[in-house]
Amino acid sequence: ATPTAVMVATGIGANHGVLVKGGDALERAQNVNYVVFDKTGTLTQGKAVVTTAKVFSGMDLGDFLTLVASAEASSEHPLAKAVLDYAFHFHFFGELPSSNNGIEQRKDEVLSRWLLEAEDFSAVPGKGVQCSINGKHVLVGNRTLITENGVTIPQEAESFLVDLESNAKTGILVAYDGDFVGLMGITDPLKREAAVVVEGLKKLGVHPVMLTGDNWRTAQAVAKEVGIEDVRAEVMPAGKADVVRSLQKDGSIVAMVGDGINDSPALAAADVGMAIGGGTDIAIEAADYVLVRNNLEDVITAIDLSRKTFSRIR
Ligand code: ADP
Ligand code: MG
Repeated sequence: ATPTAVMVATGIGANHGVLVKGGDALERAQNVNYVVFDKTGTLTQGKAVVTTAKVFSGMDLGDFLTLVASAEASSEHPLAKAVLDYAFHFHFFGELPSSNNGIEQRKDEVLSRWLLEAEDFSAVPGKGVQCSINGKHVLVGNRTLITENGVTIPQEAESFLVDLESNAKTGILVAYDGDFVGLMGITDPLKREAAVVVEGLKKLGVHPVMLTGDNWRTAQAVAKEVGIEDVRAEVMPAGKADVVRSLQKDGSIVAMVGDGINDSPALAAADVGMAIGGGTDIAIEAADYVLVRNNLEDVITAIDLSRKTFSRIR
């Protein structure tokens, strides 16, 4: 392709909200063999909502929600936002059962009244958070986080969790002072175009892959809904780039689509990194493409544009 053709293609892309950083990236997209999708916030809407909260100890449900929300208050994770939202609504309606006027405006005020102080907070990447509340150690996160801290998950809770996961929900487990307390189920719906895009990629001869830190059972359930057979689950943030590199080993050209801080090393490692617009700045910086509209159809637009621009000169 001539420099003019590249310029024209870049302009067409920009008009469709597909921003490409340079002619090399534009050229590589035509030969993509794999498109690796991050799950949360990329295939899914990234609008996590709590659907279930269940206590398995003697703790009062309101106290349980306060505990979890207090631990998650310092976390940037989308799951943390869902937890805080759920606790907020629970307490808000507890106070004012008959009115929801100005509910969003009063969010910070209501929360600050209920939240407990969390000390020594730390995020455990790919697993959850931990902190100290009322001088007691609190863990909020996945199975791994709970069990590697020596906390036993009761059989009844484990079966409840398996049930949630089989229904594509992510389970969040909570331990207080070394004891298992309860869990929450969170759903994050697929983007409406996700399944169509997966189907479209297959028609183009491109192999779709789902990559996630979430557990196997949830990942498989979501993958099935969206039509992806190749799933890589329970991948720690640092491992996402390794998955990309392993796919590249036989000379395959790999595109990675992601939105989170977790995804930036994988976006950088991929032959074609595509950041979802509205994702974190670090992801956008690491990527070759920015899909401004936050619409997965633009993955196909980008491949199409590259094929049309370069096909004639090979
Ligand atoms: P993904 O690859 O889907 O974006 P992450 O690597 O961010 O996932 O997290 C993997 C898993 O770790 C989540 O599915 C969740 O179970 C757990 N987790 C991570 N952060 C949190 C948090 N702040 N609160 C609860 N659980 C968390
Ligand atoms: Mg994500």
